[in-house]
Amino acid sequence: ARGAGGNRYCFDTPAMNAAMLQRQALEHALRGALERGEFVLHYQPRVSLHDGAIVGMEALLRWQHPELGLVPPMEFIPLAEETGLIVPIGEWVLRAACRQIRGWLDDGIAVPPVAINLSARQFHSGHLDRMIAEALAAEGLDASRLELEITESTAMVDVDDAVATMQKLKALGVSLALDDFGTGYSSLACLKRFPLDYLKIDRAFVSDVTTDPGDAAICIATIQLAHSLRLKVIAEGVEDEFQMEYLRRRGCDELQGYYFSRPVAGEAIAAMLRGGVRM
Ligand code: C2E
Ligand code: CA
Ligand code: CA
Ligand code: CA
Repeated sequence: ARGAGGNRYCFDTPAMNAAMLQRQALEHALRGALERGEFVLHYQPRVSLHDGAIVGMEALLRWQHPELGLVPPMEFIPLAEETGLIVPIGEWVLRAACRQIRGWLDDGIAVPPVAINLSARQFHSGHLDRMIAEALAAEGLDASRLELEITESTAMVDVDDAVATMQKLKALGVSLALDDFGTGYSSLACLKRFPLDYLKIDRAFVSDVTTDPGDAAICIATIQLAHSLRLKVIAEGVEDEFQMEYLRRRGCDELQGYYFSRPVAGEAIAAMLRGGVRM
């Protein structure tokens, strides 16, 4: 195979060659998608268990591919992360979310804070706080409009750097959530050092919370742990009223999941917020 610069590459096997070409094709397509503006954000509301109000929403990235349709993030984020393309894509997500918040505010809609997901590369880039401050300033937004979700594994890449970065972000005034909690390996000692606002229980434990005693034990322990650290707890992936009731009884603070709403386009969210929906 020939690279763009006419470099000659050698491959061990034909299978590896094909895999490489596929990856290169996807990488190329992702660059094009960014240039052509094919990415979109969908938003999923988050509901308070105390009063049923929409208290936040999570921005979730999709690729509106001209032929393939709406491509879910797990089909392209891992490669984007590996190649570093996640950095410009992540910046697009941040800018797009801020632009959307500004648009809703200009339309007179009472918007709760919007959470965006950060990749490990973005989080450990060393200038994330500056990038976020600029994006907020560009739309004239207060930092309290934005929440950042960092996965447990991202934070654990380099704990000292994570603590320092989180402190800078908190100083800006944004809220921080530890995402996918329970799937990684953060020790209690690390957790105590992170200046967080929320723990998000991973969907893996929520799905079977009413049927699997092990998963129920993890959810209960996470809620108690979070509360003892003065953090709020969000359960993600709530799909039925039994899960909702169970988590309510156990003191969970906020819920997100298909039971309330799938992630939907900005216009659909605006309609929900306008209607002042209580779920
Ligand atoms: P995540 O941050 O854990 O996001 C939650 C995922 O669970 C979303 O999948 C959401 O659509 C899905 N979900 C929510 N409620 C339910 C439910 O009740 N049942 C089921 N089965 N699923 C539910 P999605 O949108 O496909 O995103 C997958 C992952 O891609 C996210 O997981 C996140 O890790 C990543 N991701 C999405 N957007 C971005 C982004 O802008 N930047 C980065 N770095 N990663 C992103
Ligand atoms: Ca998330
Ligand atoms: Ca998750
Ligand atoms: Ca995740």
